[in-house]
Amino acid sequence: MPLLVMKFGGTSVATLDRIRRAAKRVGREVAAGYDVIVIVSAMSGETNKLVGFVEETSQLYDAREYDAVVSSGEQVTAGLMALTLQEMDVPARSWQGWQVPLKTTNAHAAARIEEIPTDNIMAKFSEGMKVAVVAGFQGIGPDGRITTLGRGGSDTTAVAFAAAFEAERCDIYTDVDGVYTTDPRITGKARKLEKIAFEEMLELASLGAKVLQTRSVELAMRYNVRLRVLSSFEEQSDEAGTLICAEEDIVESKAVNGVAASREEAKMTLISVADRPGIAAAIFGPLSEAGVNVDMIVQNISEEGRTDMTFSCPINQVARAEKALNDIKEKGGLNFREIVADTDVAKISVVGIGMRSQSGVAAKMFKTLSDEGINIKVIATSEIKISVLVDRKYTELAVQALHDAFELEKA
Ligand code: ADP
Ligand code: ASP
Ligand code: MG
Repeated sequence: MPLLVMKFGGTSVATLDRIRRAAKRVGREVAAGYDVIVIVSAMSGETNKLVGFVEETSQLYDAREYDAVVSSGEQVTAGLMALTLQEMDVPARSWQGWQVPLKTTNAHAAARIEEIPTDNIMAKFSEGMKVAVVAGFQGIGPDGRITTLGRGGSDTTAVAFAAAFEAERCDIYTDVDGVYTTDPRITGKARKLEKIAFEEMLELASLGAKVLQTRSVELAMRYNVRLRVLSSFEEQSDEAGTLICAEEDIVESKAVNGVAASREEAKMTLISVADRPGIAAAIFGPLSEAGVNVDMIVQNISEEGRTDMTFSCPINQVARAEKALNDIKEKGGLNFREIVADTDVAKISVVGIGMRSQSGVAAKMFKTLSDEGINIKVIATSEIKISVLVDRKYTELAVQALHDAFELEKA
């Protein structure tokens, strides 16, 4: 039997009625002759609520217990989806991550998938089951405990299943009808893309376009999964949505194809550190050991042998970063005057594979922001992206101005 993976995000399973609508869509694929693996997220808002409970209970929480709590949202929707399908006379049952078992690394709250055995679910398909409903976002670690894959991780569950089961397609159903040139919530001028290259999607995702989790795009690229993003709210044809595909399948590319914004960044500055060989290692080694994901780094000009070191990290890792740096200072491994955390910033990025061959993108970006009176605090570039940190209050303005400047509303 041909096999499909269909993933329904939080808003697509937010109520029993929405679950019924999603189940009907699954039923249609079963009627068309497919075996289906359905990956579900928690009902929308549920994971945020659970994360809130954990953070209120313990600021520097034990990630194993965080996983025990936050994985529960998907357990509920998997069971409800299976029940809904059964009510429609579609043979279905649910699987929690550990029942598959979806094996992951031990990195609780940010685990990576290591293995998905297919025998268990395939055996049920051969007995006549038509739909396997799998709780997204969760797995089991080598310690035998529940793990989660990081926020948005159900996308990654879906792509990993599509790869493991060699599915014909992996369809990601969400609350927008595809991938846009920027978050359609920020500007009505955002344009839906018919296709986007894996590399561009990878950058957009990692720079804040949460429509797909970064890791899911990485996996799709590596295993050549036919990955599509489409709306669970509208009736759509087989060609609908956005196809994430290889660069060769895109005929022509503009210098910039998308703008991403992330409000979940913080800028941290270590004031007055000794400017000596090994100083960067003394700072970023302990941060990495503490599980802080450092992104941009800037070292200021040094004066009298001392300098300021600035870096960005996710806003929810600020406390962790401060603790790691203060600990190492106490042990004598690092000397600085103070740490200043600016949690009122946003990262704005422009992305495009065309940047490799077209120049002037950075100049245009900086001029556009300057014309709007937006001050740039930190800059980072790669072959196909330019990112800046700005005051968070300018997020919308910066995205809209850049979207206009690079004429992204035009195909
Ligand atoms: P789900 O719950 O289905 O996983 P998410 O909220 O994780 O959905 O992702 C969908 C959201 O991603 C959209 O509602 C949209 O606001 C946001 N988004 C950000 N950037 C983009 C983009 N470039 N294209 C489409 N959606 C985007
Ligand atoms: N429910 C999880 C989250 O909100 C996983 C997901 O929806 O992809 O992050
Ligand atoms: Mg998501």
